[in-house]
Amino acid sequence: MVITTPYESGRDFLSPNRNLSPLSTEVDANKRLMVGGCLLSDLAQRYGTPLYVIDEITIRTACRSYRDALVSHYSGSSLPIYASKANSSIALSRIIASEGLGMDVVSAGELLTALEGGVLGEKIFLHGNNKSEEEISLAYRNRVNIVIDNRYDLERIEKIVPSGADPASIMLRFTPGIECHTHEYIRTGHLDSKFGFDLDQVKSIFKELQGVSWARLTGIHAHIGSQIFELKPHQDLAEVMADVLLMGRNFGHPIEDFNVGGGLGVRYIESDDPPSIQKWVQVVSEAVIVSISKRKLNLPRLICEPGRSLVATSGITLYELGSRKSIPGIRKYLSVDGGMSDNPRPITYQSSYSACLADYPLEVPDEIVTIAGKHCESGDVLLKDVSLPKSKSGDVLVVFCTGAYNSSMSSNYNRIPKPAAIILLSGQADLLQRREQPEDLLRYDVIPERLRELG
Ligand SMILES: *Cc1c(COP(=O)(O)O)cnc(C)c1O
Repeated sequence: MVITTPYESGRDFLSPNRNLSPLSTEVDANKRLMVGGCLLSDLAQRYGTPLYVIDEITIRTACRSYRDALVSHYSGSSLPIYASKANSSIALSRIIASEGLGMDVVSAGELLTALEGGVLGEKIFLHGNNKSEEEISLAYRNRVNIVIDNRYDLERIEKIVPSGADPASIMLRFTPGIECHTHEYIRTGHLDSKFGFDLDQVKSIFKELQGVSWARLTGIHAHIGSQIFELKPHQDLAEVMADVLLMGRNFGHPIEDFNVGGGLGVRYIESDDPPSIQKWVQVVSEAVIVSISKRKLNLPRLICEPGRSLVATSGITLYELGSRKSIPGIRKYLSVDGGMSDNPRPITYQSSYSACLADYPLEVPDEIVTIAGKHCESGDVLLKDVSLPKSKSGDVLVVFCTGAYNSSMSSNYNRIPKPAAIILLSGQADLLQRREQPEDLLRYDVIPERLRELG
């Protein structure tokens, strides 16, 4: 029998998104799992559980793969930017900045995190379908590009840019009307989407923005969705966008940036088979070059904004196994010390994950179990019916591919504090985010004066 464990599966060292586990995953002499040169069960002991763990080499490899593939396949200039909603922290921003990538942000919080991490304002793009005036103003003051999503954005930008001051640098987002096969909640490119201008509004926006002093329209943008394995929709997008570029330039706008969005999928379970970063970039670059040349335009700067495929595989979460419950003939539940508050994807999108025991990654699976979280929701299940070797309470469970949309979507449901996050490189572990304490959760509570007397 061939035993494949998450750490053996994949093994594409140039395209992290095709692996189930971080690139530095290995086993020690006692066949226990290590990542970044650190023994996982040691880390669980030292930092406590649940624990978010990030493998630095995996993130850096993904950044370089996007950058290098763009340089090899696209003859114009290019810039990969990280969609930081996938996982936002100051230290991650610093790594992304040091790799030369730009960053996508969607709130004042993400924007401040990017700036604090050292990302230059000119390399930051502010997205959002309902930006506040404060967010727009913060972006403008820091020379951040503002992606206009609707007319309300334009009204607000006009209001905050002082007369005679430098214009805001803006990029127009539109809905390209492209369908792709992904979960309904994460589709954004089809027409019934809250994001962006409709294609038939674009012309009038180009017209309205002709000659305005408060904005300079320097780019166009579309994003078709997330966790996409198909390449065809990205090719189709190039054609639609090239038409919009042509129209914009005909209206005299200095459009140089051609932002095709993100969306490349990752391998969460063995059967997932996403294209590599290199293949994705190649197909997109070639499609853009063809569409642009056909219209006899100068090649714009090609921007892509991956989130998930840059960080998902670099992350794992460590939990401690606790109570168990067997329902004969039905299911065996093993409970962990976290769940939907640190990983809301299974309950939100019915997402699947892979897992193994930190100290017995190669042991032959022995039972089918369901890994349940500790929250007061029957649906709080992280993995349903997975095979694991025999385990006992206190064992450390590793859930793979949690680097994207876990920490950033975490909550304090049931007043459960958020986990600590650490980053690993060459045998060294460093804290990236401190563990929240139960007392921290009381910090913003206020007892109204009139209730004090009741005590
Ligand atoms: C979420 C998002 C991305 C990143 O998507 P991934 O699937 O994580 O690569 C890029 N651009 C925009 C506008 C987004 O909303």
